[in-house]
This record gives sequence, C-alpha cells and structure tokens, in this order.
Amino acid sequence: TDRIVTPLENEADAGSGDLRPQRLDDFIGQRQARDNLRVFIEAARTRADALDHVLLYGPPGLGKTTLAQIVARELGVGFRATSGPVIARAGDLAALLTNLEVRDVLFIDEIHRLNPAVEEILYPAMEDFQLDLIIGEGPAARSVKIDLPPFTLVGATTRMGLLTNPLRDRFGIPTRLDFYDVDDLIKVVRRGARILDLALDEDGAREIAARSRGTPRIAGRLLRRVRDFALVAGHERVGRLAADAALTRLEVDSFGLDAMDHRYLRLIGVSYGGGPVGVETLAAALSEPRDAIEDIIEPYLIQRGLVQRTPRGRMLMPAAYGHLGLAPPRSGPA
Ligand code: ADP
Repeated sequence: TDRIVTPLENEADAGSGDLRPQRLDDFIGQRQARDNLRVFIEAARTRADALDHVLLYGPPGLGKTTLAQIVARELGVGFRATSGPVIARAGDLAALLTNLEVRDVLFIDEIHRLNPAVEEILYPAMEDFQLDLIIGEGPAARSVKIDLPPFTLVGATTRMGLLTNPLRDRFGIPTRLDFYDVDDLIKVVRRGARILDLALDEDGAREIAARSRGTPRIAGRLLRRVRDFALVAGHERVGRLAADAALTRLEVDSFGLDAMDHRYLRLIGVSYGGGPVGVETLAAALSEPRDAIEDIIEPYLIQRGLVQRTPRGRMLMPAAYGHLGLAPPRSGPA
C-alpha cells in the first residue's frame, strides 16, 4: 500500500539517502538488545569464533536489517542478505552457504516464510556447519555431506509465532525489538535531520517523533516529507508548527494514525458496537488481507492501548473512543 505511515519499506525510502546507523554505538534505543549483542560480539571476537546464530523479531521498521548489518561490521566479517520467500529451492540455499567465508554473517529476512524443503537444509548447516544434499533421483540418488565454514545466521521475522520449533531452537541469541518510545525517536529524528542538513528545533523533532508510531522507518520518512514542505514554504528552521502543518497535510494525526487506522477503529467502534469482532470480519470489511491487519495495522494500535485482542475478537478500548471523539457504548463491553 502507499500509506505514508506504513512500516514496510517502499520505493521512496530506498532512493532517498541512507539514514542507517553503521555501528552499535550509533544505534539508538533497544537498550537490552544492544547491550546483549555487544557482549556476545566481543566474546566471539575474543575467541575468534563465529558468533552464535541470532534471531531478531519484532514489528517491521524497527531496525532488524540495520542491526544485522551492524553485527557483521562489528565482527569485522562479510555480510550476505537474502529473504525467506526468495530462496525457492534447497539448491539456492546450498549455493549461498557454500559461498560464505569463515565467520561471515548470512542474513535471512522473513525467515518464517522459508519453504520446508529449504528449512531442512538449514538445520544441519546451523548446527554442525554441514550441508546434507541428495544428488540425483530414484535408485541412483545418493547423499553427500559438504563441510561449511563456520558462519552466523541472522534471521529476522515479524511473526515469531509462525517459526517452526526446530528452527527457533537453533538460534542461540533470540533478540526481541520493541516499539521505540518518543524520547528515542526524537534522537532518531534529530540524527536524521543532521544527516539531511535540516535545521530542526527540539519541539519540531518531538512533533515528528510523537507521530511516528514507535517506528524509526516511519520517523525517517515523515522527516523527509516535513523537510520538503519546509523547503517549499521557505522555512529556514522547522519548529513544532511547521512540522504539525506538514504532518496534518499528510493526514497523519496526533497519534500517527492515518485514514486506514481511522477506518479500522471506527469499524469496530461504530459498526460493531465496540466489539468483540473477529479479524476475518475486519479484513473483509476493510478489503485488506488478514496478514496486513495483524502485522501492520494492529501492533501499534494495540501497544498504544486503543485496541485489545481477546479470544473472542478485537475490542475498542476507552482511549480510542476519546481519540476518535466517539461516545463509549452505554452498556460497556459485553
Ligand atoms: P526492519 O528490518 O526491522 O524492517 P530496518 O533495519 O530496515 O528495519 O530499519 C528501517 C529504517 O529505520 C532504516 O533505514 C534505519 O535508517 C532506521 N532505523 C532503524 N533502527 C534505527 C535506530 N535504532 N536508530 C536510527 N535509525 C534506525
């Protein structure tokens, strides 16, 4: 979709200058993840070993790819990147693995979307640095074992629950990334403004940060759009008013919600009396795939306390009624 607040990477992000931090020290927030990785990286370097396999999980746009690159850089090793759906056949993965150098990082994004035949190949590769391949077919088929260099697999997923147990168990360093708080996002925005050479006041940075849905990717995107508006309007410095005017023109509200979020919330609050309502029903009514609702729309609304997932469906929370200016249902939740 072309929502300005989508946490997914879009084409405009790709072409517009890199804001990615390069070192662990430049990586803002996620204190626990950072501190743990720092220790494990240092230990691996000291032993001259490959770092244990790392699983990064959490909503899109929080820095999983960035952290994977940083891990390779801090280890001083090579970095190869691919993603689950791209590796179609076992042979594709075998080719990737046999081309690794000692201690390299192989990054597999969306690792929950690996096809099962490919995943089978990954188990012995992760555990024993061995490739078990079947060559040929029928009675002539034989299995060959190939030694691999010790390497580090960094897997990333937005859906921890969709990972198979055997795969999950093979990661020594599971690391969860959470939504960023506003203070950390202010740092992300100020750092971005420095790199983009934009004169941004503290309260301008705060305004953008507060409307970025806890997500650095969105913060970077909103910052670029605010900068465009400021340029055209002839503002030399961007303060709160200029940031607010730009974000309001972009139809991003004070919580960082857009028209799609409002449709979602009103559907529950108005059409379904506050819920509970099942996700399939919401998907049909919004003409959005269920996955997009669960992975993209809901996580921030839930962490913000606007919606709750219950076994019987989604419920609108009091904070949402306040934000939307709706009267709460008189009878209360059923
Ligand atoms: P993910 O892989 O989780 O979807 P990315 O690693 O691609 O997310 O990060 C998205 C964007 O957000 C990156 O381009 C980067 O500039 C920015 N970003 C992510 N984490 C941070 C951080 N901790 N500090 C500064 N910028 C960040």
